[in-house]
Amino acid sequence: MHLNEIMIKTEEIYDGKIFKVTRDTVLLENKNNAIREVVHHSGGVCVVPITDNNEVILVKQFRYPFQEAILEIPAGKLNPNENHYECGLRELLEETGAVPNVYSYLGTAYPTPAYVTEKIHIYLAKGLTFKEQKLDDDEFLDVIRIPFDEAINLVMDNKICDAKTQIALLKTYILTREQPVK
Ligand SMILES: [Mg+2]
Repeated sequence: MHLNEIMIKTEEIYDGKIFKVTRDTVLLENKNNAIREVVHHSGGVCVVPITDNNEVILVKQFRYPFQEAILEIPAGKLNPNENHYECGLRELLEETGAVPNVYSYLGTAYPTPAYVTEKIHIYLAKGLTFKEQKLDDDEFLDVIRIPFDEAINLVMDNKICDAKTQIALLKTYILTREQPVK
């Protein structure tokens, strides 16, 4: 069992609206026990929406844990039994009103693998047309369009700190360069 841990006991500590927390006892490869506190999350999807003018559509919203309004790409949590392809299209429409003609998968990121089960699926959306935004009752955000190159500069200057946004924008940048990195 090299590079593996076996759960021998699990205890639910908290069951909330967005995540559940367990405190697990595990058997390590040296036969010792250890405690693993795990945040169980259903996962989410983020989308990089690029307009025909090569602008990226970002959303600015207040993030309570950090007590600041930050820039992110549109994103949201998977509903029960929802696949990530559909979830990304739904969140993009709800938050920005955009509907893509081209929609491609850029991979999956584990934002906090040490203690959170969340996986974030990343999509790129192009060929956008626009309908009406449909925000949730407890959701307040500003939709902001900025040139794609400027968004990359904001990532490199640490003005965009959201991890999924950094990863998704940089993947998009690499994919859209004239000579993609091998
Ligand atoms: Mg959202």
